[in-house]
Amino acid sequence: MEESSANPPADVPSRQGLTFDLDVDICVIGGGLAGLTMALESVRKGASVAVLEGRSIGWNASGHNLGTVMPGYGVAASDLIERVGFEDARHLWTLAQEGADYVRATAARMPGIALTDGALEVSRVDAGDELISRLQTLGEDFGTEVEGWQTDRVREVLKTDRYFHAIHFPKAFQIDARSYVHGLAALAESEGVRIFEDTPVVGIDPAGIRKRVFTPSAKLRCSHVVLAGNAHLGAPSQRLTATLLPTWRYAALTEPLAERLADAVAFQGSVSDTHGIDHFRIVDGDRLLWSSPETTWQGDPRRYAKRIESRIAAIFPKLGPVKIADTWGGMFGQTVHGMPQIGEVQPGLWILSGFGRQGLNTTAMGGQLLARSILSGDDRWRLFSPFELVWAGGSAGRIAGQAIDLWTRGHSATAGALSRFRERARSREQAREYATEARIASAKAQASVARQHASAAMHEDRSRG
Ligand SMILES: Cc1cc2nc3c(=O)[nH]c(=O)nc-3n(C[C@H](O)[C@H](O)[C@H](O)COP(=O)(O)OP(=O)(O)OC[C@H]3O[C@@H](n4cnc5c(N)ncnc54)[C@H](O)[C@@H]3O)c2cc1C
Repeated sequence: MEESSANPPADVPSRQGLTFDLDVDICVIGGGLAGLTMALESVRKGASVAVLEGRSIGWNASGHNLGTVMPGYGVAASDLIERVGFEDARHLWTLAQEGADYVRATAARMPGIALTDGALEVSRVDAGDELISRLQTLGEDFGTEVEGWQTDRVREVLKTDRYFHAIHFPKAFQIDARSYVHGLAALAESEGVRIFEDTPVVGIDPAGIRKRVFTPSAKLRCSHVVLAGNAHLGAPSQRLTATLLPTWRYAALTEPLAERLADAVAFQGSVSDTHGIDHFRIVDGDRLLWSSPETTWQGDPRRYAKRIESRIAAIFPKLGPVKIADTWGGMFGQTVHGMPQIGEVQPGLWILSGFGRQGLNTTAMGGQLLARSILSGDDRWRLFSPFELVWAGGSAGRIAGQAIDLWTRGHSATAGALSRFRERARSREQAREYATEARIASAKAQASVARQHASAAMHEDRSRG
């Protein structure tokens, strides 16, 4: 059975901090999915690698996400084409697919990780034309396996009038996030990576061939430093930290819902909407794992339990009252352009960050790519060069980010309500048309009966006369 509470698995080892000076080839700052994948792939290529984690493995987003592994990036394929042109967009998409394949293959080697298949991206508005053009870009241009589902088919598996058509990704899949990140750390250690927890990096000196990395109780020397600290990075590079908009997303797990869940949700993969507002899936057979609210300041996840309850009630009123068993949150860094930050900032100083809401396949892709860049001279990280390190706006950016989020949610709710209004108006119109047709048919039938009666009467009169 899939593990689903927010607490770390019981058998997670705690690791020592770095208390002695150390020399390695590569120092990775940050023990999330990005840093761990990078470390594992580098050690596999023969490098000596240390991961310095300021707190503990997977304490943030990497251990608290919903585990949905999608193709592509958090930005639409059409935006990518607009930004870098068709050929480079296609190469970028292929890299992201390799990231998803990597997670599937790696998770398959971990005991106790159940993979479930399929994801639906549902539309909150009735805009079928957009669906067709997206299907064409994803399926025909980018070679991603996709199916278009009409509204009727969506509503067969999701009993709500909130959703219209959808894109089905049969090759997308789900993993248990915490088991995966801890499995990755265990795998990296078993192949020779040295992981130090409770070891915040407080400064770096990236000049020269051998760089120096400072922690409160020791220092480390290395040829390459990889900054994989997400928006928490802080002291080692405030300038880079300022290029990410920190965003907290909150998630909840419901109490068991018994048979009534199957009456409302019959889709076993994950469901997310095109506006990035709700994201959910069934776990443990009859519970919902649901994430929705976002803030640009850290909040207490328990405060969002009621908000998540009312989102569930609004979308699946048939479910009746739903109780939340557990809530948690995690922070991810969003870039201004929506694409991850991957590449060499100056000789030997690398960045691997900004994975946003879609970090499972992209951290895996980024980790592999940088390991190959440093150790095999693969320079495809340059495909990410058009996505520069843009200042995210500091406090003003956070206020703007929160306002944009509220606007998007409000706009999406209005657009959804309009689509449902139009749908109801269409069905009322259709009912009126049926009623008119029925009235005409019945009037015709009555007229025909009357004509038959009249002709029978005339016939009778003539026979009498
Ligand atoms: C609720 C929620 C649901 C999500 N659902 C999905 C999903 O279903 N699918 C998906 O693809 N993505 C999802 N995401 C996004 C995904 O989890 C993230 O994009 C991804 O985990 C980012 O990984 P990371 O390694 O970059 O960052 P993190 O997980 O934040 O790891 C960075 C690590 O670096 C450490 N660090 C930072 N600075 C320093 C320093 N100076 N010294 C030492 N250590 C440092 C931190 O302590 C931290 O452990 C979700 C996110 C959230 C919050």
